Amino acid sequence: MTLSIDPDKCQGHGRCALASPDLFDVSDDGFGVVLEPEPGPGYDAEIATAIGSCPEQAISRGVNCAAHWRALVSDGRCRRRPAGCTR
Ligand code: SF4
Repeated sequence: MTLSIDPDKCQGHGRCALASPDLFDVSDDGFGVVLEPEPGPGYDAEIATAIGSCPEQAISRGVNCAAHWRALVSDGRCRRRPAGCTR
């Protein structure tokens, strides 16, 4: 399962980084970033807390096509939409 933050929803509250500083941080321009997109099972509680504490519901666990695709495109890892992505 992939952790992702939807850049269109994130407003930079930073609660995710408070809930789990190993998995999340706040970038220099003030938005949430995922430090570890594929965390181990030991982080389940922290991830649930981070997802629950985000006021913008910007954090997803699983395959968040839209955010995941934009992230792939924005850092040059992908040129076309992943197979099965319906958004
Ligand atoms: S808590 Fe939500 S809105 Fe705030 S920085 Fe993290 S992902 Fe962005």
